[in-house]
Order: sequence, then C-alpha cells, then structure tokens
Amino acid sequence: MFMIPPTHPRYRSLVERERLVEGFESGLVVPQGLIAHGRGEAFDYLIGEETQEFAVRAIEAASAALLLAERPVISVNGNVAALVPEHVVALSRETGAKLEVNLFYRSREREEAIAAALRRWGAEDVLGVGEDASAQIPELQSERRRVSPRGILVADVVFVPLEDGDRTEALRRMGKMVITVDLNPLSRTARTADITIIDNVTRALPLLVDMVRRHKSLGRDSLRSILQGYDNGRVIGEALDHICKRLRDISLSFGSPNAHRG
Ligand code: ATP
Repeated sequence: MFMIPPTHPRYRSLVERERLVEGFESGLVVPQGLIAHGRGEAFDYLIGEETQEFAVRAIEAASAALLLAERPVISVNGNVAALVPEHVVALSRETGAKLEVNLFYRSREREEAIAAALRRWGAEDVLGVGEDASAQIPELQSERRRVSPRGILVADVVFVPLEDGDRTEALRRMGKMVITVDLNPLSRTARTADITIIDNVTRALPLLVDMVRRHKSLGRDSLRSILQGYDNGRVIGEALDHICKRLRDISLSFGSPNAHRG
C-alpha cells in the first residue's frame, strides 16, 4: 500500500482510498465502485467526517433488528469487501446472519474474490457465489436480482450497506426489513430503507458490531422497544438539518451576510 504519513490531516480518508485501489487491483472492486465511493466522500465532508447522534440511533435500531431477526442476511459488494471485510464477518458471527455476495457488476471471478476476502477473516459459508445465486428478486433487471435461495430470497431482515435504490425498493416490496449504511441522506436507498445509518461504512460497522455485543445481554422485549421507538424519517430529517446547520455555521465563519437567514 502507498505509504501515507499518519500525521496527514486526511489520513483516514486517504487510507480508505488506498484500500479501494488495492481492492480494484485485486479484482474485488469495479471502477464504478471507485466513483460511488467519491460520492460518499463528498457527503462525509458535509457531515463532518464523524459519526453523528442520528447515526448512533440508527445503529441501535439496526442492532436490535438483526438480533430479533429469524433469518438475517448481510449482503456484501466489492466496496464493502475492500473496506470492512473483518467487520462484516464479525457482525455475521455475533448475529448469526448469513453472508451473501451480491453484485451489480457480476462476474464469477469477482464473486470468488469477494468470498475469498471474507474467508480470510474467518467466514465459513458465503452464499451467492456461482450457481448458488439461482433465485431472482422479482421486477429487478440488474444483476443484483440474482440471489441465493438460502439467503436473501428467504431473509426477513437484509443488511445492505452501500446499496442502490432499485434493489432496496424491490426488497421492501418483497416484505423484507432493509437496513442500509449510506452517507448520502438523499439517495433513494437512504429514503427507502427501514433503517438508514447515515455514516461512513468504515466508522459505522465497528460501532454496529460493538452495539450488537452490548445488546446481546438484553431481552427480546427491550430489543423490540428499541425498534418500535425508532423513526427513520426523523433520522433522515436530522441528518439534513445537521448538514444545513453545519454549512450555515461555516458560511458565517467566512463572514457571509446571508448565513443567519437559514
Ligand atoms: P440510489 O440508487 O440509492 O439513489 P446511488 O445511485 O448513489 O444511490 P450507488 O451508486 O450504488 O447508489 O452508490 C452507493 C451509495 O453509497 C451512494 O449513495 C454513496 O453516497 C454511498 N457511499 C459510498 N461510499 C460510502 C462509504 N464509504 N460509506 C457510506 N456510504 C458510502
């Protein structure tokens, strides 16, 4: 990996880029995935590159939903495999959720590369590779329609970090609860999911694994009440308010005469 000095002010962000470039070179990530990451980075800049309170509440709800689920599945794409493989494997272990490869740009080589990246962190069964992706999500045209009949097809809760809007909508229409991580509160995925964690996947995933570990000592009634008290629309509204306020404050600090009007 290209050496980035830890004192660099954008160290974290540059390390993430390096991981994605490595992922691209090793066949996990497609060029389009690099562009999608750039969109995420732009929103991270607006959010302030720190996990905000609205994301913590979504993480709590996501943890409760995964622990309450009967057939939870974690959907893994190339960017997720490059950025947080150890954390998706840990999340799978802690919740009993199955891991399934699901790709917009599908090829057998990429499926295998992603499954291998997860196995390196201890994953045993990885669904959605080769013939295993033999079932289809109805009404979806992209390669993302192909799913495992042992995984996403029969799941009640699906965790789809960095998802596209079409599939989120299709999964919701199938009656599944959808949890996502998306830095863009305006994306169709963010607005369609049941639980939207508006944060960088590299910060959100370790926090989610920790939350699950803490929540495991709670009873099902307590987990249910966390879930029932959660309001995703409100979380998205708070994320947008947070961005507006931040931009107003920054604008004021530059002496904008109009900033106070917000
Ligand atoms: P939609 O179809 O839902 O409107 P989209 O067309 O932007 O969204 P993609 O191109 O698949 O969907 O992009 C995936 C999403 O992931 C983008 O909204 C982007 O902001 C977000 N994203 C990219 N990198 C990260 C990251 N590291 N952490 C969290 N979110 C990210």
